[in-house]
Amino acid sequence: LLAADGSVAASIFAEMSALAVRTGAINLGQGFPDEDGPVEVREAARQAIADGVNQYPPGRGMPVLREAIARHQQRFYGLTIDPETEVLVTAGATEALAATILALVEPGDEVVTFEPFYDAYGALIALGGGIHRTVPLRTPDFQPDLDALRAAVTDRTRLIIVNDPHNPTGTVLPLETLTLIVELAHRHDALIVTDEVYEHLTFEQPHIPIRTLPGARERTITVSSAGKTFSLTGWKIGWLSAPAPLVTAILAVKQFLTYVNGAPFQPAIAVGLDLPDSYYRGAVADLRAKRDVLGRGLEAAGFTISQPRGGYFIIADATPFGFSDGAEFCRRLPELAGVVAVPVTAFCSPRYRADYAPLVRFAFCKKVDVLERAASQLAALA
Ligand code: PMP
Ligand code: GLN
Repeated sequence: LLAADGSVAASIFAEMSALAVRTGAINLGQGFPDEDGPVEVREAARQAIADGVNQYPPGRGMPVLREAIARHQQRFYGLTIDPETEVLVTAGATEALAATILALVEPGDEVVTFEPFYDAYGALIALGGGIHRTVPLRTPDFQPDLDALRAAVTDRTRLIIVNDPHNPTGTVLPLETLTLIVELAHRHDALIVTDEVYEHLTFEQPHIPIRTLPGARERTITVSSAGKTFSLTGWKIGWLSAPAPLVTAILAVKQFLTYVNGAPFQPAIAVGLDLPDSYYRGAVADLRAKRDVLGRGLEAAGFTISQPRGGYFIIADATPFGFSDGAEFCRRLPELAGVVAVPVTAFCSPRYRADYAPLVRFAFCKKVDVLERAASQLAALA
């Protein structure tokens, strides 16, 4: 986790946001919205602070939020979960993933993810002493090869980490793949960790939580976060839901990571989870329109893109502009077009990095006029 000179290596997101600030370029690198989430939710946090909700909340999270999480699971997915024992509130999805991996992976255990993968997975598996095995997602649609998936999961596998919808590719896994993952977990007695932070941001079809599949629930830890659903990434309210004994094991680690966090934000996110369906429909319609603005702009500028089916990001190929190395392209992009993007190699292991070298990730969770400006600046690349 350290750079060659011994300093802390900045995450790719921090590095690219700093580049945007330094150059004044439009930041389509780090995935955060440039408009804040629902006013009712922000107002509820303000009220909670005024009402004195400012001390340590309970270790598992405030009951009002755990109950809202359970209601949300019931409303959207028909899942009945016990807010007392099957829910844990965390400091963002990041802490949910960290506590889960540190609690469940013993040194030498194998952990399977798709590749490219959200960067925290690689770092956390390393912190837990696990061995990271990956299954590549290939262009144009970034679906996994199912035989490669079968080959990657063995009796040595402790966790299969699924990220659906997927960062950075925007892939949504079809039922067939989700079903195979559950079968493989059973066959090899592995657990499934599913990172569904983009659960409400699918553009073509409703999200299918893997936990709703037959036989999945008893071995699945579902991770989500308020950050993306409510455009409040800085609040860092996340949660996980799993069978009670797994929640207890994960809590044992979580209590020594942050212990607890975000007291006044917890009841506010409970308000958010209870917002009517129209909020959720509106948020995804808004983001779909933004995806289309950026997608059309990138294509008009000469990029080949792969159309994301969920999440915040579009992958584009820098090859038409004479770059075989997306990292080099991203370093030059502020000066060439006044835009910041992230190289896909930042989400890759050394083994497969070359396969993804010319690809770059653009975030479209930005105001339409910002995306239009970025598109017109990128048109100058041609
Ligand atoms: N998982 C994925 C796939 C993400 O894209 C992100 C961040 N955007 C996270 C986890 C982290 O979420 P949080 O900010 O809630 O920790
Ligand atoms: N998840 C966000 C992204 O992929 C960034 C989160 C972070 O900065 N760690 O851009």
